[in-house]
Amino acid sequence: MSKNNRFFISCLQKLSFISILFFPVSVLFSQQTIEAIHFATGKPVQVKIENGEIASVMEIQKLKNADKAFFIAPGFFDNQVNGFAGVSFAFGESDLTPEGIEKATRELWKFGVTTYLPTLTTNSREVLEKNFSLLAKAVNDPQLLGSIPGFHLEGPYINPADGFRGAHPKQFVRLPDWDEFQALNKAAGGKILQVTLAPEVEGAQEFIKKCRENSVIVAAGHHNANREQLDEAVQNGVRIATHLGNGCANLINRHNNPLWPQLSNDSLWISIICDGFHLLPEEIRVFYKTKGVAKTIITSDVTSYAALPPGVYKTQTGETIELTKEGKLHYPEQQVLYGSASPITKGVGNMMKVTGCSLADAIQMASTNPAKLYNLNDRGALEVGKRADLILFTLDDFVIDIQKTFVNGELVYQNNK
Ligand SMILES: [Zn+2]
Repeated sequence: MSKNNRFFISCLQKLSFISILFFPVSVLFSQQTIEAIHFATGKPVQVKIENGEIASVMEIQKLKNADKAFFIAPGFFDNQVNGFAGVSFAFGESDLTPEGIEKATRELWKFGVTTYLPTLTTNSREVLEKNFSLLAKAVNDPQLLGSIPGFHLEGPYINPADGFRGAHPKQFVRLPDWDEFQALNKAAGGKILQVTLAPEVEGAQEFIKKCRENSVIVAAGHHNANREQLDEAVQNGVRIATHLGNGCANLINRHNNPLWPQLSNDSLWISIICDGFHLLPEEIRVFYKTKGVAKTIITSDVTSYAALPPGVYKTQTGETIELTKEGKLHYPEQQVLYGSASPITKGVGNMMKVTGCSLADAIQMASTNPAKLYNLNDRGALEVGKRADLILFTLDDFVIDIQKTFVNGELVYQNNK
């Protein structure tokens, strides 16, 4: 080999070494800097994102662009999403395609929801098994950026009585069946993070213990448990009451009803729907005063009608329902609610309005607490090392308007209006 050739090869080797050193790093090392108002301190901060994580949160003197001051907070974590923007998880087998799930996720990002649990409600074993397996296949899609860590199964092991059952179809309500649940969880890729059931039905207490042994969160919901049954259920592992104040009959005994035991048990967390239609302001205030910020979760319980234009719709089972311009989803003749159509942003604003809680508290209830409940320690806080699941928003007269959403460090939504 000539001297020149050797020199040429050595240069090539150096170059390839340099490219090995820098090329992958430049590809992987994505960095972004955001300046905004910290949701809890109210002070201007500079937040640096590196490789999908929050790399630093630093207080600064003032924002560069002070007339465009947005709040910054960890993204919302909605633990009960039946569907969104025309896509139904609960019924619509035809919607449970990678495209349908991606559409719902992208629409939820517009409302600041960076993590959510698709929720399947009472149905036949066959339908639940099929839908869970379709969901399980779709959620690993890298395009979803880890927004769906698992699922919520609401039913079918609930109280079959009218009122407590709510809109869950009676023919599919059944007693807790651990073998069936295991089959469903297998279909779901082991990702059922929560099951909502009635503690008073036969076999429920044993079922709750098995869930605890298997790290599945159990919620009491659509039930009529008395104090002994409820307290025993909490002892056995029930952690939370699902949408307290709903999934309850209209006519209940003033002393012996399921509300008092749930409110008086200090170990029990609650989730509440704060859309302005499901609970009266005084109910929200009492629930919040009793449980406090640490044990309350704001949930939306949204259906596929959320984010659709107002109008009259036909449901999958042929019923006529109306979505009003105020966001109320109901049977027009009976004035009975069909479900929720309000994204969690509305619940967060409404919670602040009716309870007087701070923005910091509201964000804790809609982001930090659910992350803690499901032991997802990588999210739910504006802290170094957490996933950069971040929202930038304005807050005006208790209305939260999302301006930007980052998921895993990626800008997935920007309000260009
Ligand atoms: Zn429900």
